[in-house]
Amino acid sequence: MTQRLDVAGIPVSPAHYIGGKRILSPETFEVYSPIDQRLLGQISEGLDDHVDQAVTAAAAAFPGWSALSAAERKVFLDRFAEEIGKRADQFCLLESNDAGVLLSRMRHGIVPRSMLNITYFAEQALSLQSRPIDTPQAHHIVRHDPAGVAAIITPWNTPLMLGTWKVGPALAAGNTVIVKPPEWAPLTMSLLADCADAAGMPPGVFNVLQGGGATTGARLVSDPRLARISFTGSVPTAKLIAQAASANLVPVSLELGGKSPFIVLEDADIDSAAATGALMYRNAGQVCLAGTRFLVHAKIIERFTEAMRGYVENLRVGDPRDEQTEVGPIIHPRQVERVKGFVDRALAGGARALWGGTAHPFGAQYYSPTMITDVGQDDEIIQNEVFGPVLTLQSFHSDDEAIELANGTDYGLGGVCYGEQMHATEISKRVRTGFIWVNSFGIRDLAAPFGGIKRSGVSREGGDWSFEFFCDIKDVVVPKKPFKASFSQR
Ligand code: NAD
Repeated sequence: MTQRLDVAGIPVSPAHYIGGKRILSPETFEVYSPIDQRLLGQISEGLDDHVDQAVTAAAAAFPGWSALSAAERKVFLDRFAEEIGKRADQFCLLESNDAGVLLSRMRHGIVPRSMLNITYFAEQALSLQSRPIDTPQAHHIVRHDPAGVAAIITPWNTPLMLGTWKVGPALAAGNTVIVKPPEWAPLTMSLLADCADAAGMPPGVFNVLQGGGATTGARLVSDPRLARISFTGSVPTAKLIAQAASANLVPVSLELGGKSPFIVLEDADIDSAAATGALMYRNAGQVCLAGTRFLVHAKIIERFTEAMRGYVENLRVGDPRDEQTEVGPIIHPRQVERVKGFVDRALAGGARALWGGTAHPFGAQYYSPTMITDVGQDDEIIQNEVFGPVLTLQSFHSDDEAIELANGTDYGLGGVCYGEQMHATEISKRVRTGFIWVNSFGIRDLAAPFGGIKRSGVSREGGDWSFEFFCDIKDVVVPKKPFKASFSQR
């Protein structure tokens, strides 16, 4: 047992979790709460030695873990999820303090979902090896073999959810994992390591390596012993990771940023579109899949913006630990500066704030829900991800124009389209993104594929797609008739 930090009464280890042991580093980094900038603790920085130890431990645990049947692994994984459930209150409070995520959202959405991220994939893995292909010539036994050691690198917006979403399928498929949590919000992954420990996971199967991105993260992704790298984060980091992975030809999955359109067609239910529109300020807009570019038919734009203004004015900005709060803080002073910079430059360039456009009086890391209009398609604020409570508004006059604006960025993560159901569905098919919600937002079934196109990502995770990524797929071909060797064979 290493020393523990006391974060809001929760004992959290500041150490790595490697090979079933807590390992402290002589070097540390500081973690602050976005709520009130108080120091939460000094966390271990992963040095070369720690990266080596983590990969060695995960590689050593791989033969044993991968040799278990999916049913045997499920026993461990169900216990792992149960341990999350036992600490549900701690996870809620910890992530709220560490990442500024709403306590209410943690309790009702993220913690249950994080448990499901593990139990769902453990269950799905039971049928992974029973997908034969039968042809007149042969039986094909299509195997999903575990690939080896998977590095999982996650960002700070909802780190528990984003971590378990990859840990679940990777472990269920028989891989061993090393998670490198975000340095701005590293604490819930440490608590997750306590869950792995309490669940009796074999040492080395689940490892947590704390540290900075350019330091620990970069060391980890260049280790040639990795079999997979699954990354969620920004485009510039993804390029660095892809470069490191290419040196060792390691497959990577990249879930990246977005600049997703929120289209409101002339025949939309304006009030529901406006109510959903206000949801884009959830997590202070630090949500990759939010529809941040509002594209509204010119005939209804005034009615729509007035309806949305009504919802936005009633949003409660404040302390995420207060169950009534709807919009919490921005993660870090640097991110506040980034958000402010985008808005200030847009306004200086002739854009207008329909609402917001300034810091929020609640505290230093709070920004008012903002809507920027009078912008052109080439403007920085239309083309680049802000990742804060800042949306933009443009109008269109025809379906074709809506599609052109929607597709007019380098991103292609998601989208939202409100309109008469058939009309909105047809428009949605033409928007070039990895997914899009028709008259809805945020429905995420674990069986469905998730990921982006263009600069928003490479590959898909979710459902079978997670297993396609985390497994080596192998075809064992057994001929139906005795095989006759022939040089003229195809
Ligand atoms: P980031 O790219 O700065 O960091 C993400 C993670 O990568 C962190 O753990 C960081 O330490 C690590 N990292 C940084 N440099 C590294 C390097 N050279 N090698 C290895 N690891 C490195 O992103 P962020 O600011 O933490 O997160 C915000 C971004 O994440 C936004 O762009 C957002 O859209 C995106 N995101 C995408 C999804 C999705 O599913 N598509 C979900 C959430 C967030």
